[in-house]
Amino acid sequence: MSGINDKLRNLPKTDEIIQREELASEIAGSSREIVLEAVRGAVDELRQSILAGEDAEIEMESILQAVKSRIRRLERRNLRRVINGTGIILHTNLGRARLNPRIAAAIAEAAENFSNLEYDLDRGQRGSRHQHISALAARITGAEDAMVVNNNAAAVALCLSALAQDREVVVSRGELVEIGGAFRVPEIMEQSGAFLKEVGTTNKTKLSDYENAIGENTGALLKVHTSNYRIIGFTEEAALSDMAELGHRRGLPVLYDMGSGLLLNLREYGVDEPTVQEGLAAGADVVMFSGDKLLGGPQAGIVVGKKEYIERMKKHPMARMVRSDKLTLAGLEETFRIYLDREKAMKEIPVLEMISADRKELKEKALRLLALIEGRMGGCRAELVEECSQIGGGSAPMLDLPTFALAFSPEVMTVDQLEKRLRDHEIPIIARISRDRLLLDVRTIGEKEFSVIAKAMLAIFPQI
Ligand SMILES: *Cc1c(COP(=O)(O)O)cnc(C)c1O
Repeated sequence: MSGINDKLRNLPKTDEIIQREELASEIAGSSREIVLEAVRGAVDELRQSILAGEDAEIEMESILQAVKSRIRRLERRNLRRVINGTGIILHTNLGRARLNPRIAAAIAEAAENFSNLEYDLDRGQRGSRHQHISALAARITGAEDAMVVNNNAAAVALCLSALAQDREVVVSRGELVEIGGAFRVPEIMEQSGAFLKEVGTTNKTKLSDYENAIGENTGALLKVHTSNYRIIGFTEEAALSDMAELGHRRGLPVLYDMGSGLLLNLREYGVDEPTVQEGLAAGADVVMFSGDKLLGGPQAGIVVGKKEYIERMKKHPMARMVRSDKLTLAGLEETFRIYLDREKAMKEIPVLEMISADRKELKEKALRLLALIEGRMGGCRAELVEECSQIGGGSAPMLDLPTFALAFSPEVMTVDQLEKRLRDHEIPIIARISRDRLLLDVRTIGEKEFSVIAKAMLAIFPQI
């Protein structure tokens, strides 16, 4: 017991530690508060281990190390960049679409400066925040008008409120979807003040089902793209073009919630998703989609379609509650500008670039990563394996994109322990585990991130 008391008495005082030369640069680069908290934490940890009877040595050197590492942790942002080794391109938990640096630069410019967000520079008077996007979106999609809100869920809610409040909206039972994050079409409808009129069955809805459901109080027909699942087998759904024809014959707007917001036909890459242009060409009056799914831009809900309906949405009180901010608008405008050229978009929109990467490219990429670590790790084998990537984000759920990954088989720890070590890394590396191996799919990893991964792996598995 007296040994413990002696040790406790020998613990250095907070002031003594703070005044150490070794912490001068930390205090200058951080703040006294943070350093103080780190010192107290480090000393307390030592005190606890002494009290627990552990064989703890009191060494200034190791205390200072502990303080520095605590400072680093305290200074670290909560929302941080991570490396996505999962092969899921639109990973909802990892922030969905990664943006092109040009898009990020446009966002930074709008953030650091004043802008003409709601100012008409030609006339020197108040303008509309929608003006920056409408003409570009119209040019790319062929729509009459466009508006942008905070996200697609908000776009759907606003659309139903503005165009069908207190009225019935006819929807197929096969399309009453739940998207991740509890976006349920029936609940959004309830919130918007429109009433759901379900028609058809889970697997079959015919045009006549819609037609028979139209009554005096019908406000709109709604089609929802079942983006995150497919009903296969004995199925039938009414074509959007037939719904549009029916709606127009009966004087009703036809609304289309597309979810993914694909602007370029990607069927040659196996992505069987409709494009926004196809939705409009089929006759939908209003098409709604996300900015940060297949479009590959910032989080947003984009609405394109007939001017009369979009005007009504812009004027609705809810528009103010879900309006998008200048950072989103700046990023989205730059995104649309890249789309003016298909070739450019396929290369410069990271989501599209990742989808279209071919096997040969991916294999060479994986080999380049392997070359940085092969034969240099102690206690872990790494090899090239063929795997499958996914688009994710509730898009193209049936599609497996053939890819290459590095598979790690650690000998000095379990695969779960390795997964955690990578997750704890300074820049967290998020991996996938399959058949007792840790996988890093190179499709979603940037070439610039290779050195970070290699350094982390070599530090975890030093050669003895
Ligand atoms: C993803 C999705 C939404 C929600 O879009 P957010 O941008 O995430 O709000 C709505 N409808 C469909 C069909 C979707 O796929």
